[in-house]
Amino acid sequence: MSRVVTVEQLRKVFRLEGGDRLVAVAEASFRIDRGEVLGLIGESGSGKSTVGRCLAGLLKADGGTITWGTDHPEVGMVFQEPRDSVNGRFQVWEAIADPLLAHGMRRGRELATRVEEAASSVGLDRSHLLLNCDGLPEELLQRASIARALIRKPDLLVLDEPTTALDPDARAGVLELIRELRGNSSTAILLISHDLLAIRSVTERVAIMYLGKIVERGPTDRLFVDPLHPYTRALMESALELDPSVPMAPVELAGEIPSPMERPPGCPLEPRCPWSIEACSDAEPPEEDYGDQHLVSCIRSGEFAADTQLLARATRPRE
Ligand code: ADP
Ligand code: MG
Repeated sequence: MSRVVTVEQLRKVFRLEGGDRLVAVAEASFRIDRGEVLGLIGESGSGKSTVGRCLAGLLKADGGTITWGTDHPEVGMVFQEPRDSVNGRFQVWEAIADPLLAHGMRRGRELATRVEEAASSVGLDRSHLLLNCDGLPEELLQRASIARALIRKPDLLVLDEPTTALDPDARAGVLELIRELRGNSSTAILLISHDLLAIRSVTERVAIMYLGKIVERGPTDRLFVDPLHPYTRALMESALELDPSVPMAPVELAGEIPSPMERPPGCPLEPRCPWSIEACSDAEPPEEDYGDQHLVSCIRSGEFAADTQLLARATRPRE
């Protein structure tokens, strides 16, 4: 498969008024291939949107590299609130056409064809195109904002919490659309979400962020079933709770997520991790490679891999 983008050791620090430094992204490495959906999971504030914005060129990274498979990479971005992606006063066709118009394409047959193609690729038909964005149901509006992001035929589509603001039916519709886009297009997709079930249903690979760092990444099934990082394990429990037939041994994290202005030295999870040992606070743990691009930043992950009873299997049934 051909690579769309490789991100190595991405870092983004915001300098706040008063001189404080906020490490929004401490260390993020991943690659996305053509036709692939990579899920980026993490709690609110973990740095997901900042990663997406760096990829879309909306923010300049402070460290690391972003290497594209093409000389002039094109990135389309969709935000959580459809109304942040499209101008409500526009008619749907105009909202979708806008990125082409902004890049100098004239109104005419080619533009009309491109708009119709993009609209149909997201399940909108001609009758939708003349409606005003303002009056559109939220699912159709989110579809329109995806069409808008697709119209310049991007190498990468960044979807930042595209289902979070939607009601359950609209959410299901947009997830179905993402699944179709994965099958039909050569675009790579970065799907940012804290909706674990959504991520599980449409991605083949995932990366887990905690306090600005990708702590584990790899094939979706592996990370959902046999994660090797205590944080991933703790996070997955919240998702799998929905399936009471899966017996679980909870990994209980102590306390709250620290502020990104006060990242602990060493492993960011160390102060909360029930598995932490002294060495965890010495240095940021390197990524250990478990094959098939499954990488885990935990110095004890080898123990968890060797004895699945330890972390990834239930040691006691759910009460
Ligand atoms: P997520 O998308 O995972 O919720 P974000 O990437 O939005 O996380 O934010 C990561 C951290 O960076 C948060 O602590 C957030 O408050 C901070 N942050 C994001 N954008 C800015 C900004 N423009 N200026 C200062 N801090 C920011
Ligand atoms: Mg966000």
